[in-house]
Amino acid sequence: MSPTVYLISGANRGIGLSLVEQLAARPDVIVFAGARDPTKALALQALKSKFPERVYLVKLTSANKQDNEEAVAKVSEIAGRLDVVIANAGISNAFYSSLDTPLDAMQEHFVVNVLGPLALFQAAYPLLKTSTSSPKFFPVSSLLGSIQVGTVPPIKATAYGTSKAAVNWLAARLYYEYPDLISLPIHPGTVDTDMAANAISHMPELIEKFSMITTEESAAGILKVVDAAKRDESGPKMTSYDGSALPW
Ligand code: NDP
Repeated sequence: MSPTVYLISGANRGIGLSLVEQLAARPDVIVFAGARDPTKALALQALKSKFPERVYLVKLTSANKQDNEEAVAKVSEIAGRLDVVIANAGISNAFYSSLDTPLDAMQEHFVVNVLGPLALFQAAYPLLKTSTSSPKFFPVSSLLGSIQVGTVPPIKATAYGTSKAAVNWLAARLYYEYPDLISLPIHPGTVDTDMAANAISHMPELIEKFSMITTEESAAGILKVVDAAKRDESGPKMTSYDGSALPW
């Protein structure tokens, strides 16, 4: 059986790194791990040494067209195919009310969290189409992008929340535009990473609102959802790492 080929962005640390670790442990997989600077991605380099035939590092900066196209060209050259893309890279570093949110923070969140997945999709889709099973494109979104959930006080995350709402829209749009594609936004849980630690340091009340899981739990759940995903005739859903459907 030919291996399933994955491309993961933001694989340098956090949830992305756990996704690559868990995929690398599977015998029937080739995983391309995206990092802004692969020469500094020491954890990924260690995985590459352990699983040289299964793990490849690619340079991937969100929204950089050249990086995205060169990364996909490397996937094509090495694996000849691409089956699953997880657009995981993201930022959250602006904890303000809407009145106080700096416009450059809005812009930065949209570049990384929305243009990032779009540029990755644009570069990857021609190769994804060659997948022998249904190609899959999963942007890692967030419950804070839900209009029902993310707008509720006390969460001050206008730049982050609107960017994740936008990526939900994008995933739904891709689902309808490309009938061969399984495109679902996935919420990874509230996960113990640098991003969550930073958010909690600004909004300690988040600890009471959401219970924290490890990157390993999150990655295992995401991969279970990704593996099982099929096109649902009722349309796309924002899906949690535990498989439940979430309010948009
Ligand atoms: P981390 O901050 O731990 O890791 C973020 C990853 O994204 C890093 O690998 C980072 O690379 C990469 N990244 C950031 N900016 C860029 C950029 N401009 N170009 C390329 N890569 C970039 O975050 P998490 O692991 O927690 O988050 C992963 C995803 O999960 C994000 O999309 C986030 O929004 C989402 N999420 C996380 C939640 C949580 O509780 N942790 C909750 C809901 C959603 P580098 O190391 O070079 O900075």
